[in-house]
Amino acid sequence: MFGRILQVLTMKSPDSPSAVTRSSVASEELSTRRAQLLSSIKTFIVILSTSIISFIAFRNTLTWYLQRFWGASGDFWQSQWEKVLDVCGHNEFNVGFFGSFIATFTVYWIVGMCYTLIDLTGRPAFLLKYKIQEPNNTAYPVSRSQIYGVLRQVLINQFLIGIPFTLMGHYLMRWRGYDWGKLPTFQWVILELSLCILIEELGFYYSHRLLHNPRLYKYIHKQHHEWQTPIAITAIYCHPIEHIFSNLLPPFLGPLVLGSHTATAWLWFTLATLSTLNAHSGFHFPFFPSPEAHDYHHLKFNQNFGVLGVLDRLHGTDSQFRKTKAYERHIMLLSLVPIKELYPDETKKSTKSDDTCSTSKEE
Ligand SMILES: [Zn+2]
Ligand SMILES: [Zn+2]
Repeated sequence: MFGRILQVLTMKSPDSPSAVTRSSVASEELSTRRAQLLSSIKTFIVILSTSIISFIAFRNTLTWYLQRFWGASGDFWQSQWEKVLDVCGHNEFNVGFFGSFIATFTVYWIVGMCYTLIDLTGRPAFLLKYKIQEPNNTAYPVSRSQIYGVLRQVLINQFLIGIPFTLMGHYLMRWRGYDWGKLPTFQWVILELSLCILIEELGFYYSHRLLHNPRLYKYIHKQHHEWQTPIAITAIYCHPIEHIFSNLLPPFLGPLVLGSHTATAWLWFTLATLSTLNAHSGFHFPFFPSPEAHDYHHLKFNQNFGVLGVLDRLHGTDSQFRKTKAYERHIMLLSLVPIKELYPDETKKSTKSDDTCSTSKEE
């Protein structure tokens, strides 16, 4: 069509009066420009429409493949879940109570023992370059007697507090209403996990900050802060009251409020457990979430009360942390080069002086 217009436009010139006047030359130039403009518009429209059609076709194909993929993996996970239900005899109490306790306990100790082996032996030595803590009041590698002390309190918390809490949690979930049969969709799981993270942040930040109230601190939270340079399994080394209000309740509130499927709840508890073990480990490993914020909390006591850091920013309880080298290092390490080499202490004089300044103020 545009070709036809162009043809008509260009044919007009010979039809114009044969006498070559200045006005006719001008009119010819104008016609040529119009033709060029129309040609450009035509090309633009063709490219744009082709791009839109290609994009829609690509998007629909991609969506189709993704749906097929999630559909297929959904079947895979459903069959895995059926196996778990088989082991539990398709009994709701076995799944909700025994299953939940065993799942959380197992994750804590399988991963916790891996960290503990490093903490006890200092081996494999090549991993020590990812250690972010300077030897403070804890020698490293740690002694067996220190590990025994932690083990004792952690097992007390897991058995004497964790078991009754899980039992109560099971009946609360039944009261709330939830599903433990057909698995939810992938998108729903992601949505629930996101909400669980936010609910935990609220619960953990405020309960933790309350525990730092000078009137309460020495009776409850001081025990957890015995470890100024913590190791992974000190994640739930704390007073039983703290274990209930800071470690168990905040992660449990999400699944309770949302009425989450048991499998979603287990996935969430697993992620929360891995997160807290990592946050206390003192190791900033490549491709792991950064442990810098909570490690700094153990070092300074009055900074970084939350998990995500959102409420700390809101309440200004990360103001000193944000002036430090640890804050610069508070990123996910995306290479094998240790974070201390990527952000060495010496490079920034101003940050170092800030660091020294805040240390002397707080201590
Ligand atoms: Zn801690
Ligand atoms: Zn604390």
